Amino acid sequence: MLKIFNTMTQKKEEFKPMYENRVKLFVCGPTVYDNSHVGHARTYISFDVIARYLKYNGFSVFYLQNITDIDDKIIKRALELNVEPIKLARKFEKKYMEDMKLLGVESVNLYARAIEHLPEIIKQIKTLIDNGFAYVTESGVYFDISKFPDFGKLSRRNIEDLTVHRISPDSNKRNPGDFALWKIKNDEPLWNSPWGVGRPGWHIEDTAITEEYLGYKYDIHGGGLDLIFPHHEAEVAQMESASGEKPMVRYWMHTGFLNVSGEKMSKSLGNFITIREILRDYDPEVFRFFVLSTHYRSPIDFSESALQQSENSLHRIYKLIETIDELLRSNISESNENDIKNTNLLLNAKHDFLNNMDNDFNTPNALSVIFNLIRDVNRGIDNKNISKNSLIYVKNLLIEFGEILGFEFSIKPSVDDKTNDLIKVMVEVREKLRERKDWELSDLIRSRLGEIDIILEDK
Ligand code: AMP
Repeated sequence: MLKIFNTMTQKKEEFKPMYENRVKLFVCGPTVYDNSHVGHARTYISFDVIARYLKYNGFSVFYLQNITDIDDKIIKRALELNVEPIKLARKFEKKYMEDMKLLGVESVNLYARAIEHLPEIIKQIKTLIDNGFAYVTESGVYFDISKFPDFGKLSRRNIEDLTVHRISPDSNKRNPGDFALWKIKNDEPLWNSPWGVGRPGWHIEDTAITEEYLGYKYDIHGGGLDLIFPHHEAEVAQMESASGEKPMVRYWMHTGFLNVSGEKMSKSLGNFITIREILRDYDPEVFRFFVLSTHYRSPIDFSESALQQSENSLHRIYKLIETIDELLRSNISESNENDIKNTNLLLNAKHDFLNNMDNDFNTPNALSVIFNLIRDVNRGIDNKNISKNSLIYVKNLLIEFGEILGFEFSIKPSVDDKTNDLIKVMVEVREKLRERKDWELSDLIRSRLGEIDIILEDK
């Protein structure tokens, strides 16, 4: 039984979607004004695995992400760079998509740009005004938090103590915690609205988009911990007031921060490393492994040594797959009297792995199941206590786990005997060339082999 920690109730709850086999999932997408950093990647890899696991469990998942392409930060950056805000947003949106592809984040079904949902945004603001939850002033339209007594229920804040974060103080507001739905502005880019030209508030972008594609109520809403207040709190207020129905979301899920020396990695603190930079030195799967070795709700400390450890650990998995492939090509017998197949370990590995995933997506514990399996299978191989059938079973199991976690254990090309012999010949020839100090030709061989994923390391 899958259990999910719900930020709203602060409890692990059995997962029951609104409709039996379908899951509607929304995760806040990026504000596109710069390259995405590895903190963003942490959040999006986590939700990628969550979506993969839901699919593995037979749910048909519709995963929606918005793209915040209207935002003061984008406009500020565009001014600094002397480019049009929309061009800047498109440029970094494209880079974000490329980064996600490189990271193997493939589970999002639809990306929705705020810019393309102005009619939906205006419609939702109108509803809120008509229902008495919002009011119009000279500087824009505001949500009146005093009209929504549940305000603060997600972030567990006292409505009286609420202060505004993203928005500067405004004497037009009825309560200091009221937040903007529409901001009247005179600097570009501007859109028309019944309340004057300007731009939408940040929070309404998301609820207008989710109402359009998911309806008033849906199953899971995710994002990083920093979004709980004010962003997600405001989303609850807007959507539940506009629809008159609750709860807007059945499960609120939040990822912990990726930190650098104990501090959140963020664009504004300037302590960030971009996804691109890290992928220059590490395989995307190494970074994914690093992310998954910590539970998605816990903080994770970014360091080179942690990445190197992840690289070594991932290598152990691939090494076993390689060994299994070699053994399968040899004439190892189908069965073995002392086969480890009946040991608890092999019988329970899948059950233990899934149990950990069922427990609020506990990927670090699921990974330790894999490493216990590797240890015991290696022992079985060393002691010749393993049959061909068991090896096939273990390999398929690893591939299955890999699909859930987003590792492509299945497609690494296995090398047939002839190719193997051919590679050995190439290596020998290259050794001779190196003895003759013909570096040019020996480097050429290495780089051409590299192009077909055969990596030579001179040790
Ligand atoms: P932003 O573009 O800043 O709105 O962030 C996009 C998503 O990445 C949000 O869900 C953030 O909570 C998340 N995020 C930003 N920085 C970090 C970090 N250091 N660690 C984990 N998630 C983060």
